[in-house]
Amino acid sequence: MTPSKGNPYMDARRQRSLHETAVEQFQRAAELIGMEERYREILSYPKNEVIVNFPVQLDDGTWRVFRGYRIQHNNILGPFKGGIRFHPDVDLDEVSALAAWMTFKCSLVGLPFGGAKGGVTIDPRQYSADEMQRLVRRFTHALGSNIGPDHDIPAPDVGTTSQMMDWIMDTFTNLAGPGNRQMVRGVVTGKSLATGGSLGRAAATGQGVLYVLRHWCGEVDQRLDDLSIAVQGFGNVGGHFARLAAEAGCRIVAVGDQTGTISDSTGLDVEALWTWVSEHGGVAGFDDVHASVTAIPTEELFSADVDVFVPAALENQLTADRARRMRARLVIEAANGPTTSEAETIFAERGIDVIPDILANAGGVIVSYCEWLQNKAGSRWTAAEVDDRLRQLLWEASDKVVAAMEELGCSRREAAYAVSLRRLQEVYLLRGIFP
Ligand code: NAD
Repeated sequence: MTPSKGNPYMDARRQRSLHETAVEQFQRAAELIGMEERYREILSYPKNEVIVNFPVQLDDGTWRVFRGYRIQHNNILGPFKGGIRFHPDVDLDEVSALAAWMTFKCSLVGLPFGGAKGGVTIDPRQYSADEMQRLVRRFTHALGSNIGPDHDIPAPDVGTTSQMMDWIMDTFTNLAGPGNRQMVRGVVTGKSLATGGSLGRAAATGQGVLYVLRHWCGEVDQRLDDLSIAVQGFGNVGGHFARLAAEAGCRIVAVGDQTGTISDSTGLDVEALWTWVSEHGGVAGFDDVHASVTAIPTEELFSADVDVFVPAALENQLTADRARRMRARLVIEAANGPTTSEAETIFAERGIDVIPDILANAGGVIVSYCEWLQNKAGSRWTAAEVDDRLRQLLWEASDKVVAAMEELGCSRREAAYAVSLRRLQEVYLLRGIFP
């Protein structure tokens, strides 16, 4: 089904947009569950679009104005929640799609959060740490009361780190009145442990991908430690996932990132790769220091002879061409929106299973929820408590998705959306639409 006609948000776009894809995805499931039109209409738009242009002084004394976004898609289930991305391709369309996916993700895994996303159009690698600190603090100031621990809670995403979350928290608390300063630490999650972050948050998204993969193995009667895997992206999500999967006995055969693509059919030494990437900024060159590793062309990553392909970089990476060449049985979407609509059709035709992003990468927001609860209570959970909650919520959601697939006779993505939309619809029905 195509998005509703007369929607100016989408009609304004000449080309197919990412937000349009996000709307199409939920509309297919909305159709399946017979969701009422008024709720579909509401969910087709972000509730608030905040755009700020703010000046930052660079190290050479000059000033540059940057554009930042905070798109708040929906808050019927709780405060807006979602990451902040620093990347040169950030624009209103991308952030709007990412914000909508957060609403559906939080609903699917049963969190009391809505959906939002933010970003700044910048390549953070081009700027010094001091420049980034000034930029983060000025962006936080520009957002002002549009964020807050009970209103809208950012977190890390592509190009942002726990250090940047610490700066957001510090700036926000300094702007709060003296009596409120200790109460507002939960304005952001993904902070460093020392500043009120949670144990388990750094690895949470990758750990969550692995829990969802374990659940799939149980469903299809497959041993986890027999799997060979290719991963695109070796940052927070891809890197942690690869480490944890290798520790669990999987063979990580190929990894690609912005700097290059490498392969080792006997299985990469992922711990050594992790150290290499933290020292050199990317996987390129790892083949020079490990005899069994070879550098391969980017496109070969997508035709690697593996059981599982894990996109953990950016959206729209799995195109029709790459989907046709994919040899994996399963694609597990660690990244948000990695599969184009055309590729999705090809995967379905070729019998390649796809675990959708709103389930696969929900581990990050689940542990962000744990951090937020700890900040509210002024308490600290053990790593085991965090991990138990993460596993429990992901496996409950995975069970519901499998049940919905059987009930509705639909794809895994449609089933995930069906579970998510049913919860949203129930809350809308009970609360009503104001006034
Ligand atoms: P990151 O910045 O830590 O890492 C991104 C990785 O992708 C890097 O290895 C980078 O080199 C690689 N990359 C970028 N462009 C590429 C390209 N064109 N080709 C190949 N590789 C490329 O970001 P992250 O936090 O790991 O996020 C990755 C994905 O996971 C994003 O889609 C993000 O929205 C999603 N996600 C992140 C979290 C989180 O907690 N950080 C939670 C849920 C979903």
